[in-house]
Amino acid sequence: MLAMVLEKPGSPLRPRRLPVPRPGSGQVLLRVHACGICRTDLHVSDGDLSDPALPLVLGHEIVGTVVDRGAEAHRFAVGDRIGVPWLGWTCGVCRFCLSGRENLCVRARFTGYLVDGGYAEYTVADERYCFAIPPGYADEQAAPLLCAGLIGYRSLVAAGEAARLGLYGFGGAAHLVAQVARRRGQRVFAFTRSGDEEGQRFARELGAEWAGASDQSPPEPLDAAIIFAPVGALVPAALRAVEKGGTVVCAGIHMSPIPSFPYEILWGERVLRSVANLTRRDGEEFFRTAATVPLAVATEPLPLARANEGLDRLRSGAVCGAAVLTMTGEAAPRSALGAA
Ligand SMILES: [Zn+2]
Ligand SMILES: [Zn+2]
Repeated sequence: MLAMVLEKPGSPLRPRRLPVPRPGSGQVLLRVHACGICRTDLHVSDGDLSDPALPLVLGHEIVGTVVDRGAEAHRFAVGDRIGVPWLGWTCGVCRFCLSGRENLCVRARFTGYLVDGGYAEYTVADERYCFAIPPGYADEQAAPLLCAGLIGYRSLVAAGEAARLGLYGFGGAAHLVAQVARRRGQRVFAFTRSGDEEGQRFARELGAEWAGASDQSPPEPLDAAIIFAPVGALVPAALRAVEKGGTVVCAGIHMSPIPSFPYEILWGERVLRSVANLTRRDGEEFFRTAATVPLAVATEPLPLARANEGLDRLRSGAVCGAAVLTMTGEAAPRSALGAA
């Protein structure tokens, strides 16, 4: 099978022919249809996150069809379309797992970081961490739900019942969160890179009542803000934008250093917190929401072999919505061959 492999952080992914993996006990083998490109993939690829399992197949927004099952794997049938998220395995016995916080498991294995992910034609996954995909979403649209949607949802819950919600960095996650927040009756204020008028227009189309540059003040104070962009300077900016009692959630896995700031912008019981990973419960709740609230998922499809281009576009802020690798390009010649 074709896979795009990270051999060394800081260097481009290499196309490689690898054997199709075999599903172990409790695992399913998936034929991958689509895999989203998440900002976390950039952090792994750039070496911002330590000790990836090299050589590594990136990708943790995987949509595929079950084509084989290992021993003890009974949850899904061959032919089922399922999704594989970032949380690939947890120990089940540490103090975090035992207290409903498996997202913080001390031995957690993450897809496309500590185990191989979905920048490939096939992948294996522990069936207990996979999700059924609501039928209303095409493969390409479903892929970003697996992380951008899911972590976005966990961040939205962490931000509380804020009537006025700010979103910093209007990409894959924020464009989904904005829609869920609007459905919950929240007012949305979007912040983009300065001069990104296309991003601001995109945010308004998805229900933001105001969109501006991240160094601008919103027209009125916010009750909460979620920071999706990996930019530490946004932390004091967001603290200044929220009213007292407000919450600022950092949703990314990595951020540039946060500049020091005066205590008065935290004072007044403002809360600053991060959101890390996901629990299976988050995923189940989110997919129930996604099944009932049809989300418009903006994607930029690219064939698997062009994964590096997708990473570069995400790095430069050129992607509108979510970049998604599709495997149909590689599959087509083979099935055409099979048909002939
Ligand atoms: Zn654990
Ligand atoms: Zn992700």
